[in-house]
Amino acid sequence: MDGHAAGEVWLVGAGPGDPGLLTVRGRDLLATADVIVVDRLALAVLDGAPLDGAPPDGASPECAPSAQIIHVGKSATAPSWSQERINALLVERARAGARVVRLKGGDPYVLGRGGEEAEACAAAGVRCTVVPGVTSALAVPALAGIPVTHRDVAQEIAIISGHLAPGHPDSTVDWPGLAASRATLVILMGVARLIAITEALLDGGRPEATPVAVIERGGTAAQRVLRTTLDGLAVDAIAAGVRSPAVIVIGEVAARNDAAVPTAPAAGARPAVASRPLVGVRVLVARTRARPGLLARRLRALGADAVETVVARPAPAGGDDAAAALLTALDGVNAILLADPDEVAALVSLLRSAGTDVRALAGRTLVAAGPSAREALDSLGLASVPRTHLRAQLNAEPRPLGPPTVLAVAGAEPDLGPAEHAWSVRRLTLLTDVAAEPDPRIAEELRHGDFDVAAFASSTAVRGTAELYGPLPPDLLVAAMGRRSAQACEAAGIRVDIVPAEPGVHPLAAAVADFVTASRDPLN
Ligand code: SAH
Repeated sequence: MDGHAAGEVWLVGAGPGDPGLLTVRGRDLLATADVIVVDRLALAVLDGAPLDGAPPDGASPECAPSAQIIHVGKSATAPSWSQERINALLVERARAGARVVRLKGGDPYVLGRGGEEAEACAAAGVRCTVVPGVTSALAVPALAGIPVTHRDVAQEIAIISGHLAPGHPDSTVDWPGLAASRATLVILMGVARLIAITEALLDGGRPEATPVAVIERGGTAAQRVLRTTLDGLAVDAIAAGVRSPAVIVIGEVAARNDAAVPTAPAAGARPAVASRPLVGVRVLVARTRARPGLLARRLRALGADAVETVVARPAPAGGDDAAAALLTALDGVNAILLADPDEVAALVSLLRSAGTDVRALAGRTLVAAGPSAREALDSLGLASVPRTHLRAQLNAEPRPLGPPTVLAVAGAEPDLGPAEHAWSVRRLTLLTDVAAEPDPRIAEELRHGDFDVAAFASSTAVRGTAELYGPLPPDLLVAAMGRRSAQACEAAGIRVDIVPAEPGVHPLAAAVADFVTASRDPLN
């Protein structure tokens, strides 16, 4: 170190992702840095790069024009650096005389390994200063309108890493203690462990109805907030396709929406819907499971009076023997094809009832029939291949024991070519739709013409409605989420008025709003 101009390291907290939430000192240091070493989560602040696709509002701080920017976080094209390599880089550049800003998401010392970087500098005799940041643990809930403490209901907060599953030998988290407390729980890095975390808290006695909010990409234009309850968390998060980075808030305060800060709309982004276009519109939403009710929630957010009715439920097939049947069916299987998030959830829960968990799937290729199944697997931390890659993937693997076996779970068929005639396909049904009871009030309201719109998010919902309520009134507008539900309407003799260009809960609700607005507008 002797003989060099003294370099220095600053560990700077970048805040949760909105450039406006970087501290003034952090901004000043960026403006005079020689080297900036940046993580993926802090990138959005630095140069306006997206946090998974969300363009920033253009308010990125100025960096010194000559500063060298080194990306050490994971990106779509490059893996992240090891902590040792990052430590070595900081020390090496400072020793060479550079002013090094190590820009880290949120606060450097909150679950961000900043302590290890400071230690490495100290051990090497490099001067290191910490510039605290706005931690996502507190800011992201606030940006969704959630006060993490509230005088009457929550007087303590626990900020927890969800990185290690409850029960992991290296975990120091007291899950039973947290479950028994009334503290607000703020969980970072927990998306991949949602099911295990939920189970640990429910087992430890947190009530099933405890409110939960999951805030994805908080403080960016792509912020999404899922509100649910502890017992609904796993299923709802899978259905919503929740992805990292997300903060999970558990506790009474999670139901509050006190003063959500509106996120600045991204340049070129569609403007947020200014008004509530569906006010005064009564929509019947046919559901095929007790949760998640995302469509009704979305319609209500647009002002609709959405009335939900359950017309069919998927139940795990096979009764008590299903878990055992699953283990038998998995034996010797090379790939597992899953149709949708319900099948993913049923697979996971049946493995748990069989006394094991997703590790029992190790070594098998998981194949997603569509994007919703892929997202459901992804949110459990399980990688999958699209159905179209199944053949290529299995053909590429060495297979001394003969042709592969594919397990097709209920709703999806593998597409195999003539060359794959020797493959065996094993079929297993994890879910079956059981009919619900008709609700006499719904039947009565339909007869009276009290509904303006009926919205269907699946073909099962269509069939269930047709079965329970017979022919629908001719002036009822019918909205179908996609091709399959529209076809099911046709098959049941139901006229379809609205189909969104892309399938999905949000596009469907938006299409209903557009249709209603257009029919109200005298120019149309
Ligand atoms: N030191 C950081 C936390 C690093 S751990 C801080 O103080 O904020 C990374 C985790 O932080 C992510 O997995 C996610 O749980 C959370 N996180 C960070 N930024 C976020 C954001 N903008 N929206 C949602 N979660 C975020």
